[in-house]
Amino acid sequence: MTGKQTLTIIKPGAVSHEYIGPILAMINEAGFHIAAMKYFRLTPIQARSFYSVHKEKTFFNSLIEFMTSGPVVVAILEKENAVLDYRKLIGATDPTKAEEGTIRKMFAESIERNAVHGSDSDANATRECYFFFSRSERFSMFDTIP
Ligand code: ATP
Ligand code: MG
Repeated sequence: MTGKQTLTIIKPGAVSHEYIGPILAMINEAGFHIAAMKYFRLTPIQARSFYSVHKEKTFFNSLIEFMTSGPVVVAILEKENAVLDYRKLIGATDPTKAEEGTIRKMFAESIERNAVHGSDSDANATRECYFFFSRSERFSMFDTIP
């Protein structure tokens, strides 16, 4: 399992600008398989729990307000080296520092409204995938992933 899955969220700003299609196209073109997907609005409890590592940060309340402001697309993405390759595809947290051709460079509005989430480690990817998806909602292309 290690290294083969990552979790993405297409955030409310990108959804409201009709960027779901273009972002999913970039994900597909980069060779990721979509193993699970949902379209729904996060509750404040879900958003606070998902981003609990940032609860002491000055931007935490604003981040939760943003993440619950409209629907999101949550998906499990699969390929070899998924976490690192997806972080490369999305670019830096701050879109002004993101490389040309990255998802955040193309679709982010600001450091907060930065289009997409991507897991930052294999351990967090596993935690985040189970946070949103039960076994029956996951369709892995890797036989070894439970
Ligand atoms: P994500 O976890 O969403 O993939 P990231 O790992 O690149 O993003 P984190 O440091 O985990 O960045 O921050 C989580 C999210 O909090 C960011 O994606 C962004 O939406 C928001 N955020 C981060 N830093 C700031 C900031 N300085 N001001 C406002 N919002 C911020
Ligand atoms: Mg992060």
